[in-house]
Amino acid sequence: QEELFKKLIAHSKEYGFIFPSSEIYDGLSAVYDYGQLGVELKNNIKRYWWDAMTKLHDNIVGIDAAIFMHPKTWEASGHVGAFNDPLIDNKDSKKRYRADVLIEDWIAKQDEKIEKEVAKAAKRFGEAFDREQFVTTNARVLEIKAKRDAAHEKMTEVLNANDLAGVKALIEELGIVCPISGTKNWTDVRQFNLMFSTQMGSTADGASIVYLRPETAQGIFVNFLNVQKTGRMKIPFGIAQIGKAFRNEIVARQFIFRMREFEQMEMQFFVKPGTEMQWFEHWRQFRMSWHRALGFGDDRYRFHDHEKLAHYANAATDVEYEFPFGFKEVEGIHSRTDFDLSQHAKFSGKKIQYFDTESGESYTPYVVETSIGVDRMFLQVFSAAYTEEKLENGEERVVMRFPAALAPVKAAVLPLVKKDGLPEVARKIVNDLKFDHYVQYDEKDSIGKRYRRQDAIGTPLCITVDHQSLEDGTVTIRHRDSMQQERVKIAELPGIVHDMVSL
Ligand code: ATP
Repeated sequence: QEELFKKLIAHSKEYGFIFPSSEIYDGLSAVYDYGQLGVELKNNIKRYWWDAMTKLHDNIVGIDAAIFMHPKTWEASGHVGAFNDPLIDNKDSKKRYRADVLIEDWIAKQDEKIEKEVAKAAKRFGEAFDREQFVTTNARVLEIKAKRDAAHEKMTEVLNANDLAGVKALIEELGIVCPISGTKNWTDVRQFNLMFSTQMGSTADGASIVYLRPETAQGIFVNFLNVQKTGRMKIPFGIAQIGKAFRNEIVARQFIFRMREFEQMEMQFFVKPGTEMQWFEHWRQFRMSWHRALGFGDDRYRFHDHEKLAHYANAATDVEYEFPFGFKEVEGIHSRTDFDLSQHAKFSGKKIQYFDTESGESYTPYVVETSIGVDRMFLQVFSAAYTEEKLENGEERVVMRFPAALAPVKAAVLPLVKKDGLPEVARKIVNDLKFDHYVQYDEKDSIGKRYRRQDAIGTPLCITVDHQSLEDGTVTIRHRDSMQQERVKIAELPGIVHDMVSL
């Protein structure tokens, strides 16, 4: 699986999807650029979300708030005080780690140990091996499990209590060593705020600190009244936004899974207090259906309901996807009560309430939020689409099985040879399609090579112009997944491509 992940990363670079940021200067850690095909896929993902959330809901509207916000925003939201990660340094390697991640890695290692025991036993018992029975009765496995669960419980307890000495004590108790130096020589644990800050204003004395927003949600909360009033919105209603967010992540791992500059697609749904659980359930189901509609296989998604909740939340769940490195969060759905609007009312001194004309009462709405990372969704789609296939003739191909609606290039138009008027016919087809779809023209190399190139970037249709096209106005279309070919009239192409890309 690790091998597969490496291949994915290499593929994304080789075909112009993702590049390390400022690569000629050796890159910038956990920051990435999207290349010529990456930007298309990313835009298509954003459009798929935006249309599903705003266009198809007459009670959800969009906004585009600024990245910079008044510094008080982040005091009110709790980010100045509590948006922290616990850090620890190893004194020998001088390497810095997130203490909670060190512990999580230790816990994951226990699972690996259990799997090793299982593999050993399976070999020993052969056909008769009963995994379920083994993992519930084997003494060694039970011992590892008990240690693992105890560590997990302790970690949750000390982190929730913000007990930094407790975190350190747990690291020592578990005997965690630095992956680089191999020693247990740790510093104390300290808090590190994840927000990036900079100065606004041109002179040092006139300057004040502003933050790069760590989430897009607050831009929605501070605009609640503006949108509600000018849009004459009636509760329940939602405000959606897509935009950049910044977090100074300490452990930036797994490619674009965890970045320092990333993009979020968030929707805050404002409801009457007391109805939030029903809406939470609604959005939980809706968002899962949205993911599954892409057709990558329902069993590759699952919910992870949170038992421990942030102090302001009364329900939370993650939509997890099975990445090459395991099931991981793609999206969070949270019932945030009236925490955010109340906090902004308190810090701004403004009344932020909704007047219900039917009941004649005023109240602070409750919020159910859906929050998904564009880049994480990109990685999800990219890893789900990546397929290596052995063909009947013994050749191998890499094919990106993107849903047609998300594919960067919808169709490639290929003249069989570079002469006899075939390029002209092909160019005309491109011109007829390009106002509605991103299509590519390619005349270089053999037709087989051109098909492979389009497979590797996930183009659902290849349209080949040959000599017969000159006679009867037909072309061959080749379908990416089945590699089946059929002959169709050139005049039918706009309809065929249109039908294919609608999700
Ligand atoms: P995690 O536990 O992975 O750090 P989180 O619970 O802090 O994530 P939220 O604050 O709920 O995440 O953010 C909502 C979504 O934004 C996440 O589900 C994820 O898709 C995305 N996201 C958050 N942090 C990052 C990041 N550093 N890089 C890329 N995407 C991110």
